[in-house]
Amino acid sequence: MLGRGMKGTEAPIVATRKGEDRFDRSKRIPWFDLELTRRAHVLVVGAGALGNEVVKNLVLSGVGNITLVDMDRVVASNLNRCVFFTPEDAETSRPKVDAVAEGATRLDGSVQFHTENQRIEDLGEGIFTGKDVVVGCLDNLATRVHVNANAYWMRIPYVDGGTMGLMGKVHVVVPPETSCVECTLNSSHYRIIEQRYSCTGADTTFVEPKLASEVTTTAVVAAVESREVMKVVNGRRDLLMSNLFYYDGNRNVSDVLEVAINPECPNHTEEPAAVDEGAPEATGRGV
Ligand SMILES: [Zn+2]
Repeated sequence: MLGRGMKGTEAPIVATRKGEDRFDRSKRIPWFDLELTRRAHVLVVGAGALGNEVVKNLVLSGVGNITLVDMDRVVASNLNRCVFFTPEDAETSRPKVDAVAEGATRLDGSVQFHTENQRIEDLGEGIFTGKDVVVGCLDNLATRVHVNANAYWMRIPYVDGGTMGLMGKVHVVVPPETSCVECTLNSSHYRIIEQRYSCTGADTTFVEPKLASEVTTTAVVAAVESREVMKVVNGRRDLLMSNLFYYDGNRNVSDVLEVAINPECPNHTEEPAAVDEGAPEATGRGV
C-alpha cells in the first residue's frame, strides 16, 4: 500500500469494469495527459485539512506518485475539515499521514503512496529530489519559508496554500522566473517566526491561540492548489496563474495579483543560495 513512488514510475490504471475508464471525463479536458499525470511525482507537505483535500484531489485526478510528509497525529478537533480522518483515528492518536494514505489508497489502490511521519526539516534536501512539484499545506510560516527556499533552490515549482478562518490564499512559485513566498514577507513576519520558538529553540506552538478553520474555505484553497499542480505535471506552465490568489469566504470573492520579485529576498541570487543557514527550525505540521 505504501510503496515508494519514484519519479518516472507510471502507476497502472485500474478500470472499474471491462471497457470502462475511470479517467474518461478527465481525458475530455484538452490539455489533460494521462501518461504525464501517472508518471508525475508530487511532494505534499502537511497532512492536515489542506493536505487531506489536496491528496484527495490529486488521487482522483490520476497523479501516480505522491509523497506525503507530516509529523502530527489526529485529534478530535481535526474532524470538522479532514475527509480521511475518523473518530477512531483521533481516539488512537493515529499519525495523520497513515490515515490519509489509507483513505487515498481506498480511492485508487494503484497510486504509489509514500509517507514520512516526521518534520520535513529532518529529512534534508533528499525529500525534494525527483519531485515534479511541491505543494504546501501548512499552518505556519516557518515551515513555509523552509519548503519555499528548498524548492526554489532546487528549481522545483512550489504551490503554497494557506487559510485563516474564511480567508485563504495560494501562491504559485516557479523558479527562477517568479517571486516566491519569502518575497511577500516583512519584518513583522520574521518576528512571528522568531516568536514561535523559545530562547532555547523549543517549539512554543502550544501557547498559540487556536485559529478558526472549516472545510469549505479549505476546499476552495485546496482546489486551486490542485488545479495549478495539474497544470505543472501536464507540462502547461503557460496556464499557471500569476501568481497570488486571494479568497474571502465571507463575501465569496476572489482575486489574483502578480507579486514581483523582492530584490531583498535571499532566494533570487544568480547562484542558488545555501538553504536554511541560521534559520529557525519549524514543525512541519499541517493545517
Ligand atoms: Zn523571493
